[in-house]
Amino acid sequence: MSHHWGYGPHNGPEHWHKDFPIAKGHRQSPVDIDTKAAAHDPALKPLTVSYEQVASRRILNNGHSFNVEFDDSQNTAVLKGGPLADTYRLVQFHFHWGSCDGQGSEHTVDQEKYAAELHLVHWNTKYGDFGTAVKQPDGLAVLGVFLKVGDAKPGLQKVVDALCSIKTKGKSAAFTGFDPCGLLPGCLDYWTYPGSLTTPPLLECVTWIVLREPISVSSEQINTFRQLSFNKEEEPGQLSTMQRRGGRCFAGGGLPVRND
Ligand SMILES: [Zn+2]
Repeated sequence: MSHHWGYGPHNGPEHWHKDFPIAKGHRQSPVDIDTKAAAHDPALKPLTVSYEQVASRRILNNGHSFNVEFDDSQNTAVLKGGPLADTYRLVQFHFHWGSCDGQGSEHTVDQEKYAAELHLVHWNTKYGDFGTAVKQPDGLAVLGVFLKVGDAKPGLQKVVDALCSIKTKGKSAAFTGFDPCGLLPGCLDYWTYPGSLTTPPLLECVTWIVLREPISVSSEQINTFRQLSFNKEEEPGQLSTMQRRGGRCFAGGGLPVRND
């Protein structure tokens, strides 16, 4: 059953293809980014991240991660430039993390895993809405940011502080006035390739833009992620676990390329 996917021994990534055959497709994510193989593409422009008018709305524990959701009824927070031919509107961000610092990211860089990975999800405004966009090969643009453990990230703390109100699956809370610019590193150099959603339904609709510079977060901040439960309140407790999909050398849609 499609709503039973997860990261356990009986419903984890190696089982996803049974309900989502595209799991064996030709542009599946995540991939390992082989930095030596990623060629410089002189046609790539700098990224333009325009989040000045952004309006966050809500934070939600969806049982697989937690989403911070944005008002995407207008072009208030958009991503353009880079490999993108169109304007993409921010709809939500979420993280993927591990049970310890040595794992957790979806993408890897020269086979190295980061402690976590942030995904800022945008949809192509030419398709009118998110649901239509995910059915198109250029429907989504996801900005990926790696997290390593070190100094705290001040721009993340408001998110961390909100997690106590969404401890279990299905819980949500109002979450307004949040600026996602505080989650970005100083440098916006990136790798890019055509790929997919990394969780079911695994649709091959994503232009991946993975920033080369990670952000640093503190142990306390990431440990708060790990305290979340992906079970409902009334179900027996077990803390959040996420296991990355098995590694692909590359997606087949095209090797990652870099902008600088
Ligand atoms: Zn993700």
